[in-house]
Amino acid sequence: MYDPLINTHAANQPLPNSYWASTIALPTTNAPLKGTHQTDVAIIGGGYTGLLTAYYLATEFNIDCHVLEANQVGFGASARNAGFVLKGSGRLGYSAMAQRWDLDTAKGIYGEFTEAVERVAGLIKQHQINCDVQDTGYLKVAHNPKALAQLQATAGFIQQHFGDGAEFIDRNTFCQQYMNHQQAYGALRLNDGFGINPLKLLLGYKGIVEQAKVPISEQSCVLDWQQEGSKHRLITESGELLANKVICAGNAYTPKQFSPVIDNKYLPILSNVIVTEPLTADELQQAGIYTSQVTMDTRILKYYYRLLPDNRLLFGGRGAVWGKDGAKPIYGQRLKMALDKCFPSLSNKKVAYNWTGWIAASFDDMPHVFTENGVGYSLGYCGAGVSFSSQAAYRLAQSIAGQQTPNLPLYRQPLPPQPASILPFAQIKRLGQWGYYHYGWLKDRFG
Ligand SMILES: Cc1cc2nc3c(=O)[nH]c(=O)nc-3n(C[C@H](O)[C@H](O)[C@H](O)COP(=O)(O)OP(=O)(O)OC[C@H]3O[C@@H](n4cnc5c(N)ncnc54)[C@H](O)[C@@H]3O)c2cc1C
Repeated sequence: MYDPLINTHAANQPLPNSYWASTIALPTTNAPLKGTHQTDVAIIGGGYTGLLTAYYLATEFNIDCHVLEANQVGFGASARNAGFVLKGSGRLGYSAMAQRWDLDTAKGIYGEFTEAVERVAGLIKQHQINCDVQDTGYLKVAHNPKALAQLQATAGFIQQHFGDGAEFIDRNTFCQQYMNHQQAYGALRLNDGFGINPLKLLLGYKGIVEQAKVPISEQSCVLDWQQEGSKHRLITESGELLANKVICAGNAYTPKQFSPVIDNKYLPILSNVIVTEPLTADELQQAGIYTSQVTMDTRILKYYYRLLPDNRLLFGGRGAVWGKDGAKPIYGQRLKMALDKCFPSLSNKKVAYNWTGWIAASFDDMPHVFTENGVGYSLGYCGAGVSFSSQAAYRLAQSIAGQQTPNLPLYRQPLPPQPASILPFAQIKRLGQWGYYHYGWLKDRFG
């Protein structure tokens, strides 16, 4: 398996064998870049960020651009994720944001995250993207009494400062009305998340970019990036693209040592998803699953789950530490054991799909959307980029077009470099991550 800390690049690879890929006939891939081409803005990466940046550059700002994707669009996290459209990105809570900066900044970020969810919903509606939108609501489940108290405080903080977007649900109500989850102590419900089929969404985005007449070259991995004065020359296997500006939208799939602007400023981490066989109406009743609202728990090593439109249960959590171990069955098996602990009556259900994908974690737990000297990027969604990538793409397009973006750390600060204690050696980074997983496991189990 491709490991962005170890391998040079992932090129000419098929989409993963995910549940999502089984739900739709995949379109044929676009032709690779051949010969020399010119554009104003070159976009490296055909996930949500790259495609939507192209869409906004073309449709809102009339700026010429060209997307280069190493594989098929959606090869990265955008067609591997769990399809949770959530109000949030990164890993920092709102009260932590208010402490790190101030309340107005936290409010501003909350506003951006809210707009992100609205933006995705708006794109789906406006362009009639058929991506299996499910019930509205994002449930955060407390895995122990301490987490329950924190969720209650979070609900209070949101209600006090941001309005009525959150409600606290006690254990009994949760088990009777939402899911009879054996490890839940109660939940916080945010009222504007929803589930979608991420691959269908991605292909919908591809369609609107093509309607806007933006070229998307697939199987066109950028192997070399040469800067000549203020111009950029991006070299692929069979062509080159000359550009005035470049957007790095390769997320965690960006090859190592790609550009000093982003090198060593995020950690690629594997997340793993399993999907069961479809559950019958009796099995659903027995397990006590009454909702398809997207759900995540409060563990340090979080589990996330949702009921899919065909009554399969999707269950996700952390994957292997090292990419070379990513495809080992043990990680899917561990997720199935965790699923069975939540819903014991499902222990006989088989896992039908199991896949992994890389997420990009920034070292300050926040995404950063940043442009300087004609090079822009958006990175550090930490596993929550389905909605925020849309807002990030809009803000990236605005800043490329010379417009002011909101004065928030999201858009004003570059990705912080990795802490000095983590040397730029892949094995040492991975050992640190392995240690953190053990700490998280102990903390999640013993509080
Ligand atoms: C298993 C999993 C579950 C997740 N679940 C959720 C969820 O439920 N909700 C949520 O909000 N977020 C979730 N995420 C995170 C979310 O999927 C990502 O934040 C989001 O898809 C990032 O989109 P992107 O366009 O920035 O990057 P990606 O989708 O990763 O796209 C990057 C693209 O760049 C291409 N690329 C890289 N280098 C080059 C190069 N040199 N030349 C050309 N192309 C290149 C890659 O091939 C890739 O297609 C999950 C992620 C994973 C892995």
